[in-house]
This record gives sequence, C-alpha cells and structure tokens, in this order.
Amino acid sequence: MTIFENTIRAVAICHTPYRQKFGIPRQPGLVDAHGFVELLPPFNDPDTVRGLLQYSHLWLLFCFHENLAQGWKNTVRPPRLGGNEKMGVFATRSTFRPNGIGQSVVRLHDIVRRKGKLCLEISGMDLLDGTPVIDIKPYIPFSDSVPDALGGMAQEAPVQIGVSYSDEALSQIAALAKGDERPNLASLIEGVLAQDPRPAYKKAKDDPKLYQVALYDLDIFWCIKDDKAHVLELKPTKV
Ligand code: SAM
Repeated sequence: MTIFENTIRAVAICHTPYRQKFGIPRQPGLVDAHGFVELLPPFNDPDTVRGLLQYSHLWLLFCFHENLAQGWKNTVRPPRLGGNEKMGVFATRSTFRPNGIGQSVVRLHDIVRRKGKLCLEISGMDLLDGTPVIDIKPYIPFSDSVPDALGGMAQEAPVQIGVSYSDEALSQIAALAKGDERPNLASLIEGVLAQDPRPAYKKAKDDPKLYQVALYDLDIFWCIKDDKAHVLELKPTKV
C-alpha cells in the first residue's frame, strides 16, 4: 500500500561537521557536535518555529539519503553485536530500512539567521552533512523519556576508548580551533574517536591500519596505539 507518494518532502537540510559516514556516532547525544538545521521554503517562515525555543530538545525525522539506493533486507548485522549476529531490521536502528527514515533527539540552542537563512542551532546530532530533514518536533520529557525501558542490545551507551595525540596534532588542533568556523573542534575530535568508529571485526585483532575521519573541512588521520585512538595529524580535505 503506497501512503505518501509525492507528499513527503524535505522541510530542512542539516548542516553538520560530519562529511563522511565513517566516524559519525551511532546515536545522537554521544558527541558534542554542533550544527544547523536550515529551514527550506516554504517552511522557512519564522511562524513555523514560533514557540519552539520553549523546548531544550527536538526530534529530527530525516532521510538516510546516502543509503537509499542500497535498499534494505529483512535482517542486519548490528555493529553492537560485533557484526556477527543477525537481527530483524525492525529490531535495530539500521540505516538500511524500508522508507529510509531515521529519527534523532538533538539539543536546541537557538533560532538564528545564518547567511540569511532561517536556521535552528543544534548539537549532539548523528547526521551526515546535507541530510534532508522531513519533520521537526519538540521533545516532550514526560512522554518521550521512559527511564525503566528495556534497551535490548543497546541498554548502555557504547564503551569509549582513550584518545592520545602527537605533538604535531596538538598544535594543529590549537591553531585550527580558533574562530567560529569549526566550533568545538578539539572536543569533537576527542568525542568522535572515543567512540572507536572502526568496524567491529577490526577491533577483535591487532590493527596496524591508518584511519581517517572527515570533520568540517579537515581530514583527521589516526591509528590505534596502546589501545587508544592516537591522532597523528590533520590535513585540509582535498576537493
Ligand atoms: N538516531 C538515528 C536513528 O536511530 O534512526 C540514526 C541511527 S543510525 C545507526 C546513525 C548512523 O547513520 C551514523 O553513524 C551514520 O553512519 C549514518 N548516517 C547519518 N546520516 C546519514 C545519511 N544522511 N545517510 C546515510 N547514513 C547516514
């Protein structure tokens, strides 16, 4: 049964520091990433967000637009289970799902004009830069928070690993973190790498690989050293 043919459209686009899927936290609220939800016409009238600042958090409903072409399957192998065990797609938060819809709770900081566009300033999202947002709703604590709920395979937040830095990376971060261009760069890098974004099967064995995550306009190069994520250097992303 087709329900929404030609009626669902993007109401906004999310601008985030995450320029590739690798490295994005697997749920919201895990990393203090800052970004903007830019409202698109005809939804960019200030009336559409009148009253929204009374809420500290929002639900963003969005489209996993980068994965739509790959379709979906009945079962997926969640990274939480080491990538070995199959679970039903509806028992997971997999990005490969019928309709490709995701939902995340994010913190709302402000409603601002950015480059002339009406934007919601947010943090804590787990969304790729450019993600189309199909709806925005206030988070309502009395109803949306269920403190005694069972969390299945995801009862606790993922275990974090330590992060260390080369001298070069430390001085680069100090220099590049200045100004408004890359808010929270140092804590963003630390938060992203502490999630250990490596594929589950890599974590089980000795791992000499050089990894790279793209944050803002920077490629962050890192490896695993003494069981920590060790930041080696930062380079401007090649365009
Ligand atoms: N909190 C959401 C949910 O439960 O529906 C998303 C969870 S999903 C496991 C989070 C992952 O989605 C991120 O780690 C990233 O790899 C991926 N992702 C984020 N934005 C995406 C997009 N626009 N297209 C495809 N994948 C995306």
